Amino acid sequence: MSEREGVARLTRVAQPTSSSGLMSPVRPAGTPRTSYARRGLQPHTGVAKLTPKAAAVEEAARSLRQVMGRFATGVTVITTLHRDTIHGMTANAFLSVSLRPPLVLVSLGRCRMGEMLPHTKRYGVSVLAHDQGDFAAHFAAQQTSPVEPAFVWHEGLPLLEGALAHLVCKVIDVHAAGDHELWIGEVEHVHQRDGEPLLFYTGRFGTVRDLDEQS
Ligand SMILES: Cc1cc2nc3c(=O)[nH]c(=O)nc-3n(C[C@H](O)[C@H](O)[C@H](O)COP(=O)(O)OP(=O)(O)OC[C@H]3O[C@@H](n4cnc5c(N)ncnc54)[C@H](O)[C@@H]3O)c2cc1C
Repeated sequence: MSEREGVARLTRVAQPTSSSGLMSPVRPAGTPRTSYARRGLQPHTGVAKLTPKAAAVEEAARSLRQVMGRFATGVTVITTLHRDTIHGMTANAFLSVSLRPPLVLVSLGRCRMGEMLPHTKRYGVSVLAHDQGDFAAHFAAQQTSPVEPAFVWHEGLPLLEGALAHLVCKVIDVHAAGDHELWIGEVEHVHQRDGEPLLFYTGRFGTVRDLDEQS
């Protein structure tokens, strides 16, 4: 299989159901999390998992995950306040989208955060510092942090204390994209400080120096 074919096999074309092709901004309360019919996508079925083609899809997904691991990123903790409870999750699929207006996005797979955002409609982004690796693992549900995470607040939104940067975002749009959803946020507030960032590379956390020594 050529490299080009490998990419093509990962691509599933969604037929937009509306003329604009955009998703409705936020799911109304009580709406099922994934309405494939509404989005014009084919549902994932258990039958598909048994076919050789599905095995090839899984293999392609593993390869893509591995290749994307070569794209060194920072690490964020996304936070929201849902029914008076703070919820946080680790994410590195975070990027700047637009400066005027100021937009960012975070790409979420199936997760509790993705179920909360339609209700809370706001999220915080905390860009982790080099000494916050325990929190990165904690909020990815990998390993409980020995230190209890602490939060600071901006206009009712929690943000992880000690981060290098904070962004407060209002959800203005969400787009389905394969097995993820792209949550676009309008940036309402930013704060930053100097310091060394936590990096994620080939499945490991560290500083530039750590990762260089390990490889
Ligand atoms: C480096 C890295 C990058 C990742 N990037 C992404 C990404 O971009 N997109 C994506 O969809 N997934 C990403 N993940 C996976 C994601 O972090 C996990 O799947 C995560 O468990 C999803 O969280 P959840 O919302 O389902 O909540 P849960 O899994 O229920 O919660 C996450 C963890 O945070 C803890 N927690 C939550 N709130 C609090 C609180 N207030 N106080 C203390 N602890 C709390 C929970 O106890 C749990 O251990 C990434 C994982 C890693 C390691």
